[in-house]
Amino acid sequence: MAKYTGPVCKLCRREGEKLFLKGERCFTAKCGFEKRSFGPGVHGKSGGRSKSVTGRESDFARQLRAKQRARRVYGTLERQFRGYYETAVRKGGLKGLNLLQILESRLDNIVYRLGFATSRSQARQLVSHGHFVVNGRKTDIPSMQLSAGDVIEVRETSRVSNYFKEVAETAQKRVYPAWINRDLANFKANVLRLPERAEIDGNLNEQLIVEYYSRR
Ligand code: SF4
Repeated sequence: MAKYTGPVCKLCRREGEKLFLKGERCFTAKCGFEKRSFGPGVHGKSGGRSKSVTGRESDFARQLRAKQRARRVYGTLERQFRGYYETAVRKGGLKGLNLLQILESRLDNIVYRLGFATSRSQARQLVSHGHFVVNGRKTDIPSMQLSAGDVIEVRETSRVSNYFKEVAETAQKRVYPAWINRDLANFKANVLRLPERAEIDGNLNEQLIVEYYSRR
């Protein structure tokens, strides 16, 4: 599966806020946004956002930024993100909530939420390297969609690695969402249900994302 391979901190600068894409580094003075909080490129310091004649950000610009922000937070490329939106529409009901639930149900996101990785990109790498088993079967697909009842386990051979031994201790301190059940002692978790809106990042604006795709 294709993934973004460009400079990661530039994405935070483009969105004008910290997106916490690099795990622990994001909480240190090495954070690229802490050093340069203006946008990338020659127009970065002047804002670089499309504005209407009144000087305010246009509706389209706000919709585009909301979509880009969500896409970057979950580490998906445009084509895949659009595919998620189309699936969300087909499901019926609230398109925006459906979209967020699809994004949250990705295996890499759940691995991150469980505290097995410090960022979604690290979770993606761990899954790609085959460290996880879903419902008893080894998988290396970070975008795999999980649903209620699915069981995720760290592979037996991976549990003895220094990385997972350390994770077993550090993950204790990480709060995990109520829609997943975690059994750290056995490197196991299961999905109880889909997340409710209040359990998903409140900074994501799904309404603007729906508006963005509805006008195209
Ligand atoms: Fe964003 Fe993290 Fe880079 Fe800071 S270190 S700019 S929060 S990805």
